Amino acid sequence: MATQRSEPALRDERSQLHPFTSINDMKAEGPMMIESGSGVRVRDLAGKEYLDGMAGLWCVNLGYGRKEITDAIAQQSERLSFFHTFNNMSVDVVGECAEALLQRAPVPMSRVFFGTSGSDANETQLKLIWVYNNLRGKPEKKKIIARWNAYHGSSVATASLTGLPGMHKLFDLPKGPIIHVSAPYYYRNAPEGMSERDFSRQLAKELEETIEREGGDTIAAFFAETVMGAGGLIPPPEGYFDEIMPILKKHDILLVADEVVSGYGRLGTYWGCQSYGYEPDLITSAKGVTSGYFPMSAVFISPKVWDVLEAGADQIGVFGHGYTYSGHPVGAAAALAALKLIDELEVVKNVADVGPYMMQALKDRLGQHPHVGDIRGKGLMLGIELVQDRGKKETFPMQNRTGRQVLKAAAERGLITRALGDTLVFAPPLVLSRGEADEIVDKFALAVEDVVGS
Ligand code: PMP
Repeated sequence: MATQRSEPALRDERSQLHPFTSINDMKAEGPMMIESGSGVRVRDLAGKEYLDGMAGLWCVNLGYGRKEITDAIAQQSERLSFFHTFNNMSVDVVGECAEALLQRAPVPMSRVFFGTSGSDANETQLKLIWVYNNLRGKPEKKKIIARWNAYHGSSVATASLTGLPGMHKLFDLPKGPIIHVSAPYYYRNAPEGMSERDFSRQLAKELEETIEREGGDTIAAFFAETVMGAGGLIPPPEGYFDEIMPILKKHDILLVADEVVSGYGRLGTYWGCQSYGYEPDLITSAKGVTSGYFPMSAVFISPKVWDVLEAGADQIGVFGHGYTYSGHPVGAAAALAALKLIDELEVVKNVADVGPYMMQALKDRLGQHPHVGDIRGKGLMLGIELVQDRGKKETFPMQNRTGRQVLKAAAERGLITRALGDTLVFAPPLVLSRGEADEIVDKFALAVEDVVGS
């Protein structure tokens, strides 16, 4: 990463507090300054090119420099750069976008609520869930179950939902009626020799026991990413959703699918839930909805929830929730262009092909490596967990920061990955070709060897 500091890097370092960045690392290394992008590649200020194995932050699904989207943004900005959607106002393109989204929903959905980020969308979910149960005359039914290792956002409530202690302790979180249950982390948490299916049954049993302990009439909703992302890239073990869905139904608990990363094709199906055959009551989406070209989130509200809101309209009066940029017309134009491209480029089909291909290539190249403990994921959401001892699944000492070293070695070789502890992850643009997947695997394997040997 940047060793010789350019003027822009120096300026950045002395003026910006960076999200999810160590202050010490920033002082020691300065920022890596990305300057431009095209297709699946970005370039830094010194002109060095990188294959972006993370699509920015799991969002630039259609790749960089898509003129269809930038043109839509420019045209909408010129026509009407902003108007709001409060107090009965709207803009044509916003309704058009909402309709296009509803048409693409995995299960019939009644309404879309717009925001600008995954965090604000999950905040909206919490409020919807709470008003839903107030209107149903169940004011006690307010607790939320989420899972350890989950990532649901960075606001106070959504960082509380998030199951990462590193995001809690500095800020006196979690706050609110939030309960965490075990992560479906088969590689680390399943007892030795247990099948995936039995592990799913064990997790379902824990969930049911938690619900019964708390009282089912106090639990409102269960939040789940389909494949956990930032908490370690953890796909559900076989049968996980089949096991938990009946329990949620039995106790009248809403299922919120957090599809912020997995939505819009990443797992090789349009929605993550379609890869695992479960039906959510509420869906959170963001990132890929505009391919990261404009900050936008969309919450999908099922008839089950919407019908209660609609019937309670008198009681609700003005629905007192929203953001200035809920239904931003430029975001809506960007999303419409992105949705059209997802269809035209047959992005979902590409992921269904290149995802398994890349997984196999990773396994062929690194499956027997003595420091590769696990290779896992779905579609183009893949993770490689490095370990000191493969047989014992023993981790490297924390202070070695092995994952981070591999990330830096990969950057040297012109590849951007992300280190979640010692799990390196890939979520490249969904338009990735097989050849580009080979390039990622090759550069990555060399970077692993640079750091931990072969
Ligand atoms: N949910 C999930 C599953 C996410 O991965 C993220 C962000 N990576 C969020 C919510 C929060 O989104 P944002 O950073 O846009 O607030």
